Amino acid sequence: MLTLEELTTDYGPIRAVDRVTLEVPEGTVTAVLGANGAGKTSLLRTVCGLVRPTSGHVRMEGEDITRWAVEEIVRFGIAHVPEGRGVITELTVQENLRLGGLWRGRDAMPIREVYELFPRLEERASQPASRLSGGERQMLSIGRALMGRPRALLLDEPSLGLAPVLVAQIMSMVRRLADTLGLAVLLVEQNARSALSIANRGVVLSLGRVVAERDPQQLVADDRLLHAYLGF
Ligand code: ATP
Repeated sequence: MLTLEELTTDYGPIRAVDRVTLEVPEGTVTAVLGANGAGKTSLLRTVCGLVRPTSGHVRMEGEDITRWAVEEIVRFGIAHVPEGRGVITELTVQENLRLGGLWRGRDAMPIREVYELFPRLEERASQPASRLSGGERQMLSIGRALMGRPRALLLDEPSLGLAPVLVAQIMSMVRRLADTLGLAVLLVEQNARSALSIANRGVVLSLGRVVAERDPQQLVADDRLLHAYLGF
């Protein structure tokens, strides 16, 4: 279980994350929605240690990891897949995956398990990542994170820039990862309806604050709320 307690992050005078409290049990997906600038990326960056919170706590399996170094947080099992995908385009698909598991040594996820989850990546194994489509690159960046055998996955806008059919594929894959690997997934998305279609819980952020936390079906049905905070 990944737990955030009253987590608050400031950039100088700007409060980006404001007393956010959330629980993400293993095997579940929590969708974090919000307009541009709502604080979604800052929330993920705070959880994985890239940004230091002003106050509050992040716990993983009860352990307070709030002030740990980024590499300790990664080693403890929290993988962050940032927006923009960040694969190394000059390397092949297989090389990118190997890099993702390097630090785990023998305990890394065997590459064939990643290929079982993403058969498309096996077909492309020896091709440079530069030749991948947007959807394939997204699969590669998630596959690379899985190589380190995380227990929690922080996904920042995995559907960004993808065609609707690919968005649906990526979302159902995220669901599958939570179900089959038992991951606690914190999924940041602007694509609210797609994210809510696979999530166990939906959270809406505005100005860094949680303004709604509900069952996904209830959120999808609340036109007023979606319009007010997400612009549609
Ligand atoms: P987007 O979808 O556009 O990425 P977001 O919901 O992820 O938006 P954040 O990027 O977390 O929102 O931004 C939250 C607030 O913090 C915004 O007001 C933003 O301008 C500000 N902010 C983000 N990063 C920094 C930074 N490095 N320095 C100062 N302010 C920042």
